[in-house]
Amino acid sequence: MRIDFVSIFPDLIANWFRQGVIARALKKKLLAFHYISPRQFSDDRNGRIDDRPFGGGPGMVMRYEPLTRAARAIADDAETTPFHVCLSPQGDRFDHALAEGLANKAHLVLWCGRYEGLDQRFIEETINAEVSVGDFVLSGGELAAAIVADAVCRLIPGVLGDPASTCADSFQDKLLDHPHYTRPENTGRISAPEILLSGDHARIARWRLKQALGKTFLHRPDLFKQLELSDAQKILLNEFLAEDTISGEPS
Ligand code: SAH
Repeated sequence: MRIDFVSIFPDLIANWFRQGVIARALKKKLLAFHYISPRQFSDDRNGRIDDRPFGGGPGMVMRYEPLTRAARAIADDAETTPFHVCLSPQGDRFDHALAEGLANKAHLVLWCGRYEGLDQRFIEETINAEVSVGDFVLSGGELAAAIVADAVCRLIPGVLGDPASTCADSFQDKLLDHPHYTRPENTGRISAPEILLSGDHARIARWRLKQALGKTFLHRPDLFKQLELSDAQKILLNEFLAEDTISGEPS
């Protein structure tokens, strides 16, 4: 998969991917990241790419021409038609399903706004999807682009060391992940659940699913509503609620 980041501050993004699993995948060439500054495409001798908004008001707007020239240069250099995503607080809320959709694209271009954002005519002509990382406003799209790229890349086969590790992650199958424990068995105050030390893989899997169902029921009623529980899962959830002292009744 190829991802192009278009940003006036590309180092902010490149730094994020200097360490960890995604850095390893870049070294192994499972992923290719390109950084493009729209300043390279400015016709201004100082490399300015922003201008005052029509209609007045505060802030500056990223100009249509340098953005469009950058998009053309990317298209000329691309083997397949790129999918253009603009980071914007006005976009579709980023979630696991959106990450999965983007992970199927061979070539993503992530457009990072600054100031008041991108000229609307560029968005209408070039952008395929606007994506928001939440209902708050950041000072630039770089952090949002890093979030999107990070979540998308860990879904690409081979990026995580153990391919099984995404399977139980939160939001896979619309369930939150089960709790995790490692050594020591007892911290002095709390012991790890005995069942996890039993070596009985079937009972461990059953316990983990029970925790995932219970946590999702308690903490994410919006996700829970989308689940269609099997009879076995209903039994597990009822067991969880009977064991859990702060729970309510399953709906
Ligand atoms: N005037 C705009 C905000 C501009 S913030 C508005 O109110 O909609 C500057 C840039 O930061 C945006 O162009 C966008 O690229 C990025 N940004 C800010 N908040 C974001 C969010 N929640 N999700 C994704 N990108 C965001």
